[in-house]
Amino acid sequence: MGKEALLIIDMSNDFVADNGNLTVGKKAQDIVPAILEFANECLAKHQVVAICMDAHEENDAHFELWPPHNVKGTWGQQLFGDLQSWYEEHQDHPNVIYIAKPEYDAFFRTELDEELKKRGVTKVHLAGVCTDICNFLTAYGAYARGYETVAHRDKMATFTEQQDTFIEHMKTIFKTTII
Ligand SMILES: [Zn+2]
Repeated sequence: MGKEALLIIDMSNDFVADNGNLTVGKKAQDIVPAILEFANECLAKHQVVAICMDAHEENDAHFELWPPHNVKGTWGQQLFGDLQSWYEEHQDHPNVIYIAKPEYDAFFRTELDEELKKRGVTKVHLAGVCTDICNFLTAYGAYARGYETVAHRDKMATFTEQQDTFIEHMKTIFKTTII
């Protein structure tokens, strides 16, 4: 049987902290404990955890659409709160991967596909922010590369009112399992 991977998407200070530049705020802070619990469960079961993180240049073209966020090497790009401590504790684990991504889809121009395939992963669990942007497009990236996808309602958040709509849409067009 293939392995499974938890993809923790964009849970940075800029996207999660109260004073982050593009923050989802409390809704994102509230999903942290469930993400950490599942991350620990994954490692205990010899599955994979991939931190997928926006990594922008200072004058990124992306900032024509969005307020500047997740600029490489800044506080804003660091994982939020307990997620950062968790990562520091587990970063040398062979099944913990950190993927710096230039775009919404964590598979686009990154080594994520290669790192997952190397570890025998066939199913990915989506968690993090934002449900209707990076999570949705990463679900597509996974689907397009032949992975089974699972969306976790209690581990995703967004700053819009489109959470449920986009999770349902993942099921419709990417065959995503919703839990
Ligand atoms: Zn971005």
